[in-house]
Amino acid sequence: MTKLTLTAVALLFLTLTACSKSMDKPAAGTPAATETAGHTHEGWWCAEHGVPESMCALCDAKIAADYKAKGDWCAKHDRPDSQCFICHPEKEAVFAAMYEAKYNEAPPKREEEKK
Ligand SMILES: [Zn+2]
Ligand SMILES: [Zn+2]
Repeated sequence: MTKLTLTAVALLFLTLTACSKSMDKPAAGTPAATETAGHTHEGWWCAEHGVPESMCALCDAKIAADYKAKGDWCAKHDRPDSQCFICHPEKEAVFAAMYEAKYNEAPPKREEEKK
């Protein structure tokens, strides 16, 4: 009886130790560093055009075709009218706000702007 209890306690102790050990360890595989880079091409934001990649008609001809089909197109600047910051400078802030909502910081300056 006593022996059994001891074993049980020992087992419990071992489990607890193992448990707290694995919890103490800073998770090595956490993707924490990925969002610090200002200019990433790994997905969400198109830094070149100042819109989310998934909406960037200037990067993806298929997306462009979608916008054209919807009639949302600025022929003069060859981009969706809703993304034409030349005709609608106020739109840029709308997209920037989307970026800020996600990353809690202002989006990187658009490369296009330097011209
Ligand atoms: Zn783009
Ligand atoms: Zn335009």
